[in-house]
Amino acid sequence: MSTPLTLLSEDELAFQQTVRDFAQKRLKPLVSEMDQQAQFNKELIKEFFNLDIMGIEIPDQFGGLEADFFTSILAVEALSEVDPSAGVMVDVQNTLVNNAVVRWGNADQHARYLSKLSSEWVGAYALSEAGSGSDAFALATTAKEAGDHYVLNGNKLWITNGAEADLFIVFATVDKDAGYKGITAFLVERGFEGFTVGKKEDKLGIRASSTCELIFTDCKVPKENILGEVGKGYKIAIETLNEGRIGIGAQMVGIAQGAYDATLAYVKSREQFGKSIADFQGVQFQLAEMRTMLEASRLMVYNAARLKDSGADFLKEAAPAKLYSSRIAEKICSIGVELFGGNGFTKEYPIEKYYRDAKIGQIYEGTSNMQLQTIAKMELS
Ligand SMILES: Cc1cc2nc3c(=O)[nH]c(=O)nc-3n(C[C@H](O)[C@H](O)[C@H](O)COP(=O)(O)OP(=O)(O)OC[C@H]3O[C@@H](n4cnc5c(N)ncnc54)[C@H](O)[C@@H]3O)c2cc1C
Repeated sequence: MSTPLTLLSEDELAFQQTVRDFAQKRLKPLVSEMDQQAQFNKELIKEFFNLDIMGIEIPDQFGGLEADFFTSILAVEALSEVDPSAGVMVDVQNTLVNNAVVRWGNADQHARYLSKLSSEWVGAYALSEAGSGSDAFALATTAKEAGDHYVLNGNKLWITNGAEADLFIVFATVDKDAGYKGITAFLVERGFEGFTVGKKEDKLGIRASSTCELIFTDCKVPKENILGEVGKGYKIAIETLNEGRIGIGAQMVGIAQGAYDATLAYVKSREQFGKSIADFQGVQFQLAEMRTMLEASRLMVYNAARLKDSGADFLKEAAPAKLYSSRIAEKICSIGVELFGGNGFTKEYPIEKYYRDAKIGQIYEGTSNMQLQTIAKMELS
């Protein structure tokens, strides 16, 4: 596990090492069991909070680390090297939920939610529905004004952290005829009347990460829980997802690094034809390809994150970083499975799980086709 020194400050290297040490010591022993049982270990979540990685950008006055976006990227990458399910839990918390509440929440919402998000509450981000995935703003969940509150009706699908979360950012429309201009973001607590978490998906990869349906049946949400302004939910969604997809890039870089490290160790130890398979030039070239792809995708992700922190425009870098790093993660894992030979196809070895986990990077927070569409649109505008 090496990271180019020139890219990271002393503080960043120390933070990265802390998360990597935690991942090796506390996370790694639980990875296989959590994957098989499709269940995230609850104690681990408490440890994430104790490690200060659930409120990385939350201001110090609310118990957060008050660090930058790049620090979140380092945490997501380091956890994903060992378990991408852990990576995405921390990613959604920091790059989507905390990000949206810090940026769009008012002082009262900051006071009510930021301390909880940095110390005990997992968050979830609920945009997708059965009929609106890529076409996210075609959502059908409605919010009707009723005195001092709104009444939400509808279902959300595929919501990460749904089983563990206490706070949900929910996008609903106050006026279907207004199109995307009716979309409004609400802060919904798990205990709100009329809100239930439905079925949990049984998935190919990131199995320990919960992906749930959310059901709103006359769910009462007080007006003080509107995030930002009525009708401005589309702006919150676009802007948080623009940043969030860099986090998914970091998850993919972590997967690629974890798969590469496991493969490198394996080819050094496996012997065929009387010598280590790492001695064959064919294998060496495969390793060299993996290493090169990994470095390229890491640089793209880090660059997008650094641009974001600097206040510069980062959209032209974020979509290609997510597109490329998710493709490369799948490719590196695939070569890894081959280099493990028959062992690579079994659950005795870690590489098959990395391979399964990598696939999601091409689907959530905008599929690869949607990234291509975004990139092409920016090129042609
Ligand atoms: C494990 C998991 C976790 C998730 N977590 C969350 C979450 O926390 N919150 C949340 O809101 N959502 C979440 N999602 C939903 C996810 O963002 C959507 O699944 C994704 O955006 C794709 O939408 P869809 O599944 O409806 O696919 P569709 O939109 O139906 O797409 C199907 C295929 O058609 C292609 N396609 C669609 N439109 C076009 C077009 N215009 N041009 C070219 N190709 C196109 C797509 O690229 C894709 O290959 C999660 C999904 C999964 C699987």
